[in-house]
Amino acid sequence: MRHLAPNYQPLDVVLTAGEGAWVSDTAGRHYLDCLAGYSALNFGHRHPALVAAAQRQLERLTLTSRAFTHDLLEPFAHAVTDLTGTEMLLPMNTGAEAVETAIKAARKWGYEVKGVPAGRASIVVASGAFHGRTTTIVSMSDDPQARDGFGPYTPGFRIVPYGDADAAARAIDETTVAVIVEPVQGESGVIVPPDTYLPRLRRLCDDAGSLLVLDEIQSGLGRAGSTLAQDLTGVRADLTTLGKALGGGIVPVSAVVGRGDVLDVLTPGTHGSTFGGNPLACAVGLAVVDLLRPGTLQARARELGRMLRDRTDAMVADGLLARARTVGLWAGLDVESSLGLTGRQTCELLADAGVLAKDTHGRTIRLAPPLIIDEDDLDLAMTRLREVLLSA
Ligand code: PLP
Repeated sequence: MRHLAPNYQPLDVVLTAGEGAWVSDTAGRHYLDCLAGYSALNFGHRHPALVAAAQRQLERLTLTSRAFTHDLLEPFAHAVTDLTGTEMLLPMNTGAEAVETAIKAARKWGYEVKGVPAGRASIVVASGAFHGRTTTIVSMSDDPQARDGFGPYTPGFRIVPYGDADAAARAIDETTVAVIVEPVQGESGVIVPPDTYLPRLRRLCDDAGSLLVLDEIQSGLGRAGSTLAQDLTGVRADLTTLGKALGGGIVPVSAVVGRGDVLDVLTPGTHGSTFGGNPLACAVGLAVVDLLRPGTLQARARELGRMLRDRTDAMVADGLLARARTVGLWAGLDVESSLGLTGRQTCELLADAGVLAKDTHGRTIRLAPPLIIDEDDLDLAMTRLREVLLSA
């Protein structure tokens, strides 16, 4: 790969086709995709309704820029806010852009509405978080790999331990415009905080007059067994970032949804994106909302999630996994250290066995199969994982 920058170290498979939960490589081998594009492929590869929506739109109109509007922009905003029980949407493309948008909205709201002195806005964030790769976002990260070598860093972030509401309370002061966390930390290895964490953050933000911003770019849109992971806690964020699955695995689509009075601070000229909210993105996004509206995929994630939990808990009981963390159809699995396998090696062996998954820090692997996966296929993935671990 002489012409490709080395910023990824992919598994040794070269994919060429995909359908549903399955992909195949250039050698004609088939793999069950249990990463699903980090949850961008929640509906599987080439879902017929999403492909049809994209194809229809390709024949009509693909890009206007926001210098003009188009006939799907307001329907898209309406559909997503309706699905998520929010008031207003600001469309972007990638997840990182949605997070940047939330940061900018929170800071501007902090200066204009909360009355924070100019240049003093602080944002409380969590250790182990992953919110993207821009220079400002790596400034809120404590992962040396993501951060080192990219300074000078954007000031204004206070990093506190994830899951520890007392630590957040100590970090919040009169300059705090927002607390930004993932309801479940995805890249960190599917870390589920204590049940009381988000409700306590909500109260802390209310008391301090700060915004609660939840990054649901990976946890949202069905993955956690609910439309948003925050739904599981009864907490409503002031702003929520969405991405990945919003583009149906076809186009990059992201958004910030939330309180109208907060997003209202982003007046004409203050923020934007050439491609944000383009007609093709809106057509696919509308079809994504159509898939999620009935709630059957969320229910399916809960139902298959029980199987995922039972099967991975059994691997813990059998000494193959040190820990299994699951929520919805999403698992972070720590391989038992006595097996002598890193997460990477486990994923390589799994790929040889026809299952694609992704390692994260050290001995952890992550499973996030498409929500449309068959029970038999999930059973197959679990059997293959067990065999790989048993053979170590
Ligand atoms: N936020 C979360 C929680 C994520 O998991 C990710 C990507 O993994 C991002 C933000 C960044 O999204 P993107 O890679 O589309 O910029």
